[in-house]
Amino acid sequence: MFALAYSVPVPVHLIRHPVAQDALVALRDRTTRPSHFRRLAHRISLVLAMEAVRELPTTAVRVDTPLEPADGYALTADIVVVPVLRAGLGMVEAVLELLPHARVGHIGLQRDEQTAIASQYYAKLPPDLSRSTALIVDPMLATGGSAVSAITVLQRAGAQDIRLICIVAAPEGVAAVEAAHPGVHVFTPAIDRGLNAHRFILPGLGDFGDRLYGTV
Ligand code: URA
Repeated sequence: MFALAYSVPVPVHLIRHPVAQDALVALRDRTTRPSHFRRLAHRISLVLAMEAVRELPTTAVRVDTPLEPADGYALTADIVVVPVLRAGLGMVEAVLELLPHARVGHIGLQRDEQTAIASQYYAKLPPDLSRSTALIVDPMLATGGSAVSAITVLQRAGAQDIRLICIVAAPEGVAAVEAAHPGVHVFTPAIDRGLNAHRFILPGLGDFGDRLYGTV
């Protein structure tokens, strides 16, 4: 269940799934405590990841049931899930629950609080990404700086099929990703109004990492 939020060539998938919307409104609620926030982040990530892999190829297989052979389809795509540290860690376990054979890479990006410019302090990716589907998980697509950097890191490592899963997007972030990496599909349940002077998303949900880990 997804809809294209923009005109056709812009691959932004707005996930209207009621379970995702229900989790999102609770994530936005300022009274939601970190323990519940983590559960909600997990739940919404399950739905978003499910949508992000909807078109993955499968291979015809035959197995023996206790009674007779049965034909079916197995997921054979190589998936690499890449959380952007630290907030993306709140989403990665959900993706691994759906796709337990996925390989995992990590990209560490630090956002300067004054300029909101992201600088990379860590990257560790699995080898051989040219035929993989890379799922970047980065909950807040604000200015787009981190997402654009993470996509660039993956492209330099050889990834060609790159998809970005986020929990809240700002129009500015979507525009930045589309301008720098027009082929990357973005999956989000919400495109909010815009950014404030500190480049936080409005209405957004605050600082995702702080709310996830109680470091406010
Ligand atoms: N990062 C966050 O955690 N929240 C925002 O609103 C923007 C960036």
